[in-house]
Amino acid sequence: MSLNKYREKRHAERTPEPFGKAVPNGRPSTGGIFVIQKHAARRLHYDFRLEMEGVLRSWAVPKGVTLNPADKHLAVAVEDHPLEYGDFEGVIPEGNYGAGAVIVWDRGVYGVLEGEADAADAIRKGKVDINLHGFKLNGAFTLVRTGGRNNADPKDKQNWLLIKKRDEHADARRKPVSTQPESVLSGRTLEEVAESAQSL
Ligand code: MN
Repeated sequence: MSLNKYREKRHAERTPEPFGKAVPNGRPSTGGIFVIQKHAARRLHYDFRLEMEGVLRSWAVPKGVTLNPADKHLAVAVEDHPLEYGDFEGVIPEGNYGAGAVIVWDRGVYGVLEGEADAADAIRKGKVDINLHGFKLNGAFTLVRTGGRNNADPKDKQNWLLIKKRDEHADARRKPVSTQPESVLSGRTLEEVAESAQSL
């Protein structure tokens, strides 16, 4: 059910992206894996994904993740992705949805901060506080829905903000998006992945 939108947008025979099943486990979503994929689609963005309810709940973040609590980065809710997508690096061919190169920019595990039992429920209500333990990113972040307060534009409901909470990992000067551009899986940059596909 949850992956219907994902499947509607893609053709399994024309893209190397995985087409896994949703695997609901019935447990509360107190945490799981997180993945951030850097994606050179029509517009460069970072896909921020949290494992819950057997899928990767996903947001597209044009500016990527900031460590500065004063920055509030737009995060647009997008369709759930299969869990296997968290390992995907490669090039989505021209003519397909999201065409362009993808790398795994960061990954690790997340936990829901105290006071919220279930990330999926918190997200349905429009706000979740989480702790990330990744290769590049650590510490507490808030995802909060800003859209949907008036019903004039249904797309407005997809608009969230991703914000670094104040803790020992907050840092207004460190900018891993610029200083650590490479994949945590392969060490390759997005440009190297794009070029390797062109030379095939
Ligand atoms: Mn994307």
